[in-house]
Amino acid sequence: MTMACHCTGCQKMSASAFSLTAIIPEAGFEVLAGDPVIGGLHGQDAQHHHCDWCKSWVFTRSPHAAGFVNVRPTMLGVAEWCTPFVETFTSEGLGWAKTSAKHSYPAFPPMEAFGPLMAEYAATR
Ligand SMILES: [Zn+2]
Repeated sequence: MTMACHCTGCQKMSASAFSLTAIIPEAGFEVLAGDPVIGGLHGQDAQHHHCDWCKSWVFTRSPHAAGFVNVRPTMLGVAEWCTPFVETFTSEGLGWAKTSAKHSYPAFPPMEAFGPLMAEYAATR
């Protein structure tokens, strides 16, 4: 599932108005080359993995999203396919920063919302 996050943390991490995320099942994700380093959030809630050369934020792992990896789609060779399906933290967003996301949340959606959202997203693919 694809998401855009407007939180101030993502604004700072991405040096932009919002971050883009593609939630990938762990089984479908593998680092093929290089050794990512931890930057941004270093704690137990989430760890941001960065390219050790350019320090760009590449993906995030969190125990709250066990079984999934949040990949930054703009780090992939082609990112155009990633239109955000859900946007989060619109309450912290820059007023002019709008997306075409079908679902908007002023903060983070409740965890129980993710199953139905992912099922709806999968049905559109
Ligand atoms: Zn965020």
